[in-house]
Amino acid sequence: MYRPHPFSWVPAAGARHASAEKRPAGGWSDGTTLTALCDQKIQAESGELAWLWATCPGCSKAARVLAGMPPTAVAR
Ligand SMILES: [Zn+2]
Repeated sequence: MYRPHPFSWVPAAGARHASAEKRPAGGWSDGTTLTALCDQKIQAESGELAWLWATCPGCSKAARVLAGMPPTAVAR
């Protein structure tokens, strides 16, 4: 499967984190424990509201490094 970046975004603990763990088809089940790019252990959550949470600053920074983007680039 084509993956543009070596990580995936996952809403957990009131914020949108990113994880480098392999994302299963259809996404992680609720409650799946993952290690986020910010080194926090997180539990995946889903639902429409979860995607409205703010992006975790630690994951955002780490994700940009992995994506080869400068830290000052505007998030899309
Ligand atoms: Zn995070």
